[in-house]
Amino acid sequence: AAPAGGHRFSAAAGPLPPDVVDEVAEACRSWRGGGSVLSLPFISEAFRELQHETQARLRRLLGLPPGYQVLFMQGGASAQFALVPLNLLGLDGAAAHLDTGHWSRRAAAEAARHARVVTLRHDALDEPAPPRETSPVAYLHLTSNETADGWQWPRLPTSPWPLVVDMSSDLLTRAIDCTGLGLLYASAQKALGVPGLTLVIVRDDLLGRARPSLPGVMNYTALAAADSRLNTPPVFAIFVAHAMLGWIERQGGVPAMARTAARRSHAVYQALDTSGGFYRPQVGPAWRSSVHPCFGLAERALTPRFLEQARAAGLFDLQGHPDVGGLRVSLYNGTPEAAVSALLSFLQEFQRTHG
Ligand code: PLP
Repeated sequence: AAPAGGHRFSAAAGPLPPDVVDEVAEACRSWRGGGSVLSLPFISEAFRELQHETQARLRRLLGLPPGYQVLFMQGGASAQFALVPLNLLGLDGAAAHLDTGHWSRRAAAEAARHARVVTLRHDALDEPAPPRETSPVAYLHLTSNETADGWQWPRLPTSPWPLVVDMSSDLLTRAIDCTGLGLLYASAQKALGVPGLTLVIVRDDLLGRARPSLPGVMNYTALAAADSRLNTPPVFAIFVAHAMLGWIERQGGVPAMARTAARRSHAVYQALDTSGGFYRPQVGPAWRSSVHPCFGLAERALTPRFLEQARAAGLFDLQGHPDVGGLRVSLYNGTPEAAVSALLSFLQEFQRTHG
């Protein structure tokens, strides 16, 4: 039976493990022998320490080499769709964007409001040299995991340009090779806890190119110089990220997270693939997301009933992204094992009664 409140599979927010919830709840009353973390002043030494520990945990977990700034911003990944070109392209640069699905298209559309954007199909990277008309570009943007489509780069591609990666939905679920990485950004609410914090990791040599009119709090170079405390940062969201990163370290770090994601997504895809066509995975094996298996029902008219019966079984938010439709499972680091087992049983049971 599902716990009170059931299991949530929403793509919009990752569940927090019970240990992290306990740590946060305790800190809301009193933290490190002082007052509540909810009113921790950002100018305090205690916050400075918390921020530096959070940055150090991220560097360790990601295996980040020297030469990168770890910035804490606000506005979500969506703000970065605009802030990346505004920071990296100066007044007249151009960017290449790889089109792999919903979120990469959203990123390209927003970037195109601010700069010249060249859109590439993802197989364009197999070409040895960039096509003439796309040159010169300052960076290549990609979305490592297409949250809405269930499509994921199995590994980051090699590129003649620095890679700019939206890693909002698979950050810390797998190892990344930082060779060629120019910039990485991610909203916090999937891998790092709660909304309000946006992580930006930027290579030092890409700083100093912002458009002069860019507000200081959105300027990577200004933020790096002020150690991400140019104005009040999202203190509570940073605290939750600190707790979540501590939990990931205690579980064995990114290798442990990657093993879990691979095992769980494999189990879900296997259930879909062996359903005799009752369930229809939406992505072919080579490009399947280990975080967001997306699928449909052969008999599409059954979809509302699937969702209704899932809810009755305590399994919530299995509907696909509104622009894509179908069904979607989100397997974030904090998703409990019990949720995945309950889902696998439900898939079998629903097929048994409707197949
Ligand atoms: N990029 C990806 C890959 C996402 O999955 C999302 C949200 O689901 C976003 C960007 C947008 O994030 P936010 O709503 O925090 O701006």
